Amino acid sequence: MQTLVATKPRILYIDDDPLNRSLVNRVLTSYDFEVIEAETGLEGIKIATKEVPDLILMDINMPGLDGHETTTRMRTISGLKRTPIVALTAHATKGDRELALTAGCDGYINKPIDVDNFPNQIVSYLAGQKDTISKDEQQHYLGQYSKKLVERLETKILELEDANARLQKVDKLKSDFITVASHELRTPMTLVYGYARLLQSAIKESDQAESTERNVVSLVQKIYRSVHRLNEVVNDVLNVFLIEASSMQIQHQRVHVGKLINSALDELNPNKNNRTLHITLKNMDELPEIVGDAERLKQVFWNLLSNAIKFTPDNGRILIEGQVTKAESRPTSAPQPGGQVIVTIKDTGIGIAPEEQKEIFDRFYMVEDTTYHSSSKTAFGGGGIGLGLPIAKGIIEAHGGRIWVESAGYNIERNPGSTFYVLLPLHPDQSFT
Ligand code: ADP
Repeated sequence: MQTLVATKPRILYIDDDPLNRSLVNRVLTSYDFEVIEAETGLEGIKIATKEVPDLILMDINMPGLDGHETTTRMRTISGLKRTPIVALTAHATKGDRELALTAGCDGYINKPIDVDNFPNQIVSYLAGQKDTISKDEQQHYLGQYSKKLVERLETKILELEDANARLQKVDKLKSDFITVASHELRTPMTLVYGYARLLQSAIKESDQAESTERNVVSLVQKIYRSVHRLNEVVNDVLNVFLIEASSMQIQHQRVHVGKLINSALDELNPNKNNRTLHITLKNMDELPEIVGDAERLKQVFWNLLSNAIKFTPDNGRILIEGQVTKAESRPTSAPQPGGQVIVTIKDTGIGIAPEEQKEIFDRFYMVEDTTYHSSSKTAFGGGGIGLGLPIAKGIIEAHGGRIWVESAGYNIERNPGSTFYVLLPLHPDQSFT
């Protein structure tokens, strides 16, 4: 080991690259310097203000505050006005040296450092060496530096505005979700409460055993329906969190997709619920069996059909069609060796704006205004909790499939319609459990 100096000068080295920090640290400590490290400009300013080192080595190209900006800021701190600051940079282009000096540095060393000469360069700067530039040059680079600062400020303001808009949107989605979720929970809850009270008085007040029994049966049925709905809402919320934690359990059974769709449609029965819609099923019986989770896949089609019904006005059409294809119909994903089942649900409803078509698969996203929220699963314009499509996407992806929507846009008068696509792979070698 070689010793160049008697006391141990303290060098603060600011660089975001750990490998550079480690190399410089090793070289300088072997020459009996004490090295303090900082990873960012802001951290460097904090340490420099507290520790007041004998010299600061400043990397120029750093994320956040860069070396020039950190130096300029340090020069405004009283304890650091005269501390030697030496710029270190890998991209030595014309004007870099002058820009560093204009920003407040005393000198400039190129990276990669010359290991043999480096300690001597440091000693010179510690002894008071100051690189200089002419007044004219300084004037010129000061103008350039101010321009760069204003541009950086502008970019940062735009980034902050962007981040702020995103946060406000997320915040609104959350409050909308709370409004809708409380509505969805309160509606069946109020019914349960009301019917339970009626039940109580029916039992207390009636002296005719037979009519009491009929009354009780009908009230219990109503309570059961409300509790069932409460259960559905709570399950939807739980499912979304299971999907997010990737811990949703998927059964591997033989599933006939056509039968699932028929059964979901039977449950929704829009025509019985005072809706006039022309619903056509095509190729359902021709679809082969796939391997999957019958209950969860039925939930997907139930949600898609319920949406098609809710967002299509009376006298509209809904076409549900099945196909089996060999090759992947979209270029983005790998082809499935065993082919795939594609189900399309095409409606003549209000449609979906292009900018919403991706977002509706995000949790809590609802296009509608929450003020007009209604819980119906079949009424035109009825809303849900905004979890149907995220859950559908989670379930389909857990089956190795994909779901997406195409629509010419949103228009409540012209009704351009929407087409939802569900693609499920056929795995010829997959075992049934
Ligand atoms: P919700 O429980 O509100 O129905 P979803 O996640 O199922 O939640 O759907 C999210 C939103 O996507 C709906 O609120 C609606 O605005 C829009 N949407 C879904 N399906 C359709 C459709 N077939 N036609 C028009 N808009 C739809």
